Amino acid sequence: MELLKRTAKEQHEALINKEVSAVELVNASIERIEKLDGTLGAFNSLTFESAIETAKKVDEKIAKNEAIPPLAGIPTALKDNMNAVGTKTTCSSKILENFVSPYDATITTKLKENLVPIMGKANLDEFAMGSSNENSAFKIVRNPYNLNKVPGGSSGGSAASVSASEVTLSLGSDTGGSIRLPASFCGITGFKPTYGRVSRYGLIAFASSLDQIGPFGRSIEDVTNLYEAIAGYDTKDSTSLNLEVGNISKNLKRDIKDLRVGVIKELMSEGVSDDVKLATENAIKTYEKLGAKIKEISLPLLKHSIGVYYIVATAEASSNLARFDGVKYGYRAQNCENLLDMYCKTRAEGFGPEVKRRIMLGTYALSSGYYDAYYKKAQQLRRLIANDFEKAFREVDILVSPTCPTTAFDLNSKADNPLEMYLTDIATISSNLVGSPALSMPVGFDKENMPIGLQIIAKKLDELTLLQAAYALEQELGVYNLRPDI
Ligand code: GLN
Repeated sequence: MELLKRTAKEQHEALINKEVSAVELVNASIERIEKLDGTLGAFNSLTFESAIETAKKVDEKIAKNEAIPPLAGIPTALKDNMNAVGTKTTCSSKILENFVSPYDATITTKLKENLVPIMGKANLDEFAMGSSNENSAFKIVRNPYNLNKVPGGSSGGSAASVSASEVTLSLGSDTGGSIRLPASFCGITGFKPTYGRVSRYGLIAFASSLDQIGPFGRSIEDVTNLYEAIAGYDTKDSTSLNLEVGNISKNLKRDIKDLRVGVIKELMSEGVSDDVKLATENAIKTYEKLGAKIKEISLPLLKHSIGVYYIVATAEASSNLARFDGVKYGYRAQNCENLLDMYCKTRAEGFGPEVKRRIMLGTYALSSGYYDAYYKKAQQLRRLIANDFEKAFREVDILVSPTCPTTAFDLNSKADNPLEMYLTDIATISSNLVGSPALSMPVGFDKENMPIGLQIIAKKLDELTLLQAAYALEQELGVYNLRPDI
């Protein structure tokens, strides 16, 4: 297979076997981005020069026969809500259009330590609010499998750039499914670790009790390696977990005969398209064939997760986004009469419609007259949903479901209907409310050749079982080896 379409692991082998140099690999990525990205729209900005500098360092090490980290020299993209010093971090918003990061996010520091060339910043829904990437203030992203369809959101650029082999790996952030949904729509693997596993220092906050950074890649091995490179305790993030990450990549292969697999009943019924259902059932049968024990699990409160999420997430967003006021960062409106006028005009001109809608919803939910009726109730339900999950994980090791009830939808088909858009998150949101690790991996295609993703969820901190279970299925199905014809 063409070099850029290979997995990071295969590219690493090509580098250490001196089949190709890191500079050549990065140049191939540059060429492909230059050729494709005008159509695809996956990147907001590019950092080719520093990527080449990093690649040169990798080549020097290889020339001296020094060992290189597994991801050294592998072309990678960052979602454009993560800071990398001296580069723009726009969140795909006019309000941050010219904001230059004054420091590196912890994930950026770690990628740099691992000599990972960062090719640029990937497009997203404005402030990571959306499921289709149509909420970017700058441009849409197209799905590499069908240019008339959405790539999923909010990490649409991160997913499309890997799917289209512009880069081999990328990072996204997941507040309610923004890694898993686009991974599913673009036919790649996306992994949201346990809340607190990866430092959020330098990630521009959306909803702080839900946000988590995670990897996109073409295989479970690749996302595991990227996860290990970025995970771990960070004193700069007060929600970061001071716990060992463990060595998962060395322990991916496991006999799954004793694995207990729960199928989420509520996510296999109404609204799931026939093709998605079929592919999910096929994945479940494959687990059965491998000797796992299958059990149906009911999560009766799951139906409330969207309601709970859109109260909690908007409440936190309204508070987090208060900092964009024309004084501290980014855009400031001109010709203002006084301070209040400046705040109002800056925010009216700087934020797009979805962001404004959420700030208003969140401010309303937190206002003194309604706090008990909405925010407090949502937090109580959030606890009850977590109890349901804890109970389920006493009976099974992993839970599976479709990542989304449908495959990627047409561009513009839901853009005017926010409620319908919110429903695409039905399967993914609960793991953010609960904090558990979850991933989406490709398991098949529908009749229109659009990819179908399977979601696997494990209990908090059990990334090991999650990734082992996903690896066993991936190796058996082989779908991860397929690439779009672009
Ligand atoms: N689609 C969800 C939303 O719009 C999730 C976004 C995310 O995970 N960042 O809020």
